Amino acid sequence: MGHEYVGVVEEVGDEVSTLEVGDFVVGSFVISCGTCEICREGHPSRCVRAIFVDGQIGTQAEKARIPFADGTLVKTPGMPDPDLIPSLLAASDVLGTGWFAADAAGAGPGQTVAVVGDGAVGLMGVLAARQMGAERIIVFSRHPERQALAREYGATDIIEARGDEGVAALKELTGGLGTHSTIEAVGTQESMMQAIRATRPGGAVGFVGVSHDVQIPGDELFFSAVHLHGGPAPVRRYLPELIDLIWRREIDPGKVFDLTLPLEDAAEGYAAMDERRATKVLLTL
Ligand SMILES: [Zn+2]
Repeated sequence: MGHEYVGVVEEVGDEVSTLEVGDFVVGSFVISCGTCEICREGHPSRCVRAIFVDGQIGTQAEKARIPFADGTLVKTPGMPDPDLIPSLLAASDVLGTGWFAADAAGAGPGQTVAVVGDGAVGLMGVLAARQMGAERIIVFSRHPERQALAREYGATDIIEARGDEGVAALKELTGGLGTHSTIEAVGTQESMMQAIRATRPGGAVGFVGVSHDVQIPGDELFFSAVHLHGGPAPVRRYLPELIDLIWRREIDPGKVFDLTLPLEDAAEGYAAMDERRATKVLLTL
């Protein structure tokens, strides 16, 4: 889709006040005005003027025009060292989305957090939960490389089983109660129900996997007594904090990119992700 991007400002419009030519910027995958009530209340991805950065404003390109630049882009403190650029790019979506999922799930000190989904967003959710102080982080994963990166980012337990079998394994690890917080980063019927069933009464599910025909039975939701919050992540809300953490080298989300290709080989990048030869691909000019 091409909605994750970083770059250097080449021109600014008349009404842009926070950016100058030459700034290095990180953008959100949703264009947001920054001034409407929804933006000011912290939900810029659902801005009343929102435009998704995908086909219409694609950023798998040499240049892109970003409307509402003040409300969408955040500049870094200076020109980043090249090794920081992958992490800054991660902040543009997968990190910001994983961060939102952990936040929406109420991840915090002393808590047990589960992560359903071991793709880039799920792995970033692990990193975020660790940063937020979670004590125990249980990741559902069947891929050895992703399990290793999950552990590096702070996972304490890995469960290979899925669905109800996975939930049973998780319940065993949590004294039969389930988690305080669960991150859902897949978007299928199975993953959503797995997330709800893994969460203890009073706990919360942060769901960021784009829903593919998910239907939640009302009676099961009622008796689960869990909080649900999710949707397209308000990445712009978190960007200043995430850029700061990356700039101070406190987090290294860029490791999620395991394949780098030139822009003209973008199609090969999609094929590699589709065939699970890569978790996440970085395209360069
Ligand atoms: Zn707005």
